Amino acid sequence: MPTKKVIKKVNKKNKRHVQQVNNVHRRKRKRRRIKKSVLIGFIAIVVAICAIIFVPRTIQNNKLKDLGYDSQTIKAIREQKLQKEIIDNQYYSDYLAQEILNDNLKEEYLDLYSVRTIETPLEEKDFLLYHRLLDKGYSRQQANNLFKQLKFYEITPLLVFDYQVLESTYIKDCLDHRDTNSETHFELTNDYYTEYENTIAVDDPTSSAMLVNKTYYLSSDYVPTNITELSVVYAAANVSLAQEAADAFIAWVDAGMDLGIRFYAASAYRPYSHQEELYNDYIASMGQEQADALSARPGFSEHQTGLTVDLASVNSNGISEYKDTNEYTWTSTNCQDYGWILRYPEGKTQITGYDFESWHYRYVGVEIAQAVVASNLTYDEYYCLYLKPWNDQSLAYSTNTNQTTTETTAPTTQDA
Ligand SMILES: [Zn+2]
Repeated sequence: MPTKKVIKKVNKKNKRHVQQVNNVHRRKRKRRRIKKSVLIGFIAIVVAICAIIFVPRTIQNNKLKDLGYDSQTIKAIREQKLQKEIIDNQYYSDYLAQEILNDNLKEEYLDLYSVRTIETPLEEKDFLLYHRLLDKGYSRQQANNLFKQLKFYEITPLLVFDYQVLESTYIKDCLDHRDTNSETHFELTNDYYTEYENTIAVDDPTSSAMLVNKTYYLSSDYVPTNITELSVVYAAANVSLAQEAADAFIAWVDAGMDLGIRFYAASAYRPYSHQEELYNDYIASMGQEQADALSARPGFSEHQTGLTVDLASVNSNGISEYKDTNEYTWTSTNCQDYGWILRYPEGKTQITGYDFESWHYRYVGVEIAQAVVASNLTYDEYYCLYLKPWNDQSLAYSTNTNQTTTETTAPTTQDA
């Protein structure tokens, strides 16, 4: 029989053992608790990272959806990294969506795409025109407003007109004349062109593409270098043209003659001093307002270029009846193939500053003449769109060489 002392010893030993076991368990539990909290922490971090990535993405997607984009287009927007700009500026149009989806977008013009529709797509010439407006001083907002509401032929006159602070007034005037205006007839209620104001010296008087109008002028001492007198077979007495224009004119008259079309140059090169006399005579007899309506001021007459002719039919009495002749019908439709354009066409008086002159033709070279006719623009507009030097070179539009549109692309040389 164990003694009491022995029992006590054994109990003590057992107790120690139990305590040891308990300690081990406690340590294990503690370790497990640590493991568990590390796991929870890890999951929390993953969830947070996912939230940081996906929540804004979902919000963005919803915003794009609200603007009108479908999920396929939203995917394309993300691929092209346009989401921020589109959301910040609230850009949407069916046309913009279509071009994003087709990956056919010039990204720097999202604002312009957003004001057009699938029915009014943008062409290369629109981007050029857009840049010309900016170069003239219009803000992007004004330009967008114009492109939103107007057609190409309604905007191009603005390149010739004075800068319009309130483009909305101009837009309204255009919309009011939608029924009667077209590419070949343009008339508005208000005047937007202050003639002989903000005048500019001709950019390059050696170029046969130079523009002379009621803004662009030649200096009083400008004389074309190679003036040549036309033979009386082709012209009235003492009529001269610059050599290049004279050669083109002779070819034109000869081609007409082969078809029984007989016309000649009633007038052509006019020196500054001659124009001055003419203009002063008009002022003396009818006052300045009337004189300005009938005659160019000296320096502002195209006749000083040596590149201009007034035609007359051999069978009619001078230039005034010219529009009623077969000669007019033929010259007005074929002039471009010989390098000439009808400079003051019917229905474009507000742009050219001149009434329709059936007899007045200008030499610009075959390449440009054909492009002008194809464009349906007056030469004033054509020059300001395609040929004019940029006021601010940083605003110049550089055409994309991948573009396939050639019909309205300007010739690469100015002195064809
Ligand atoms: Zn003339």
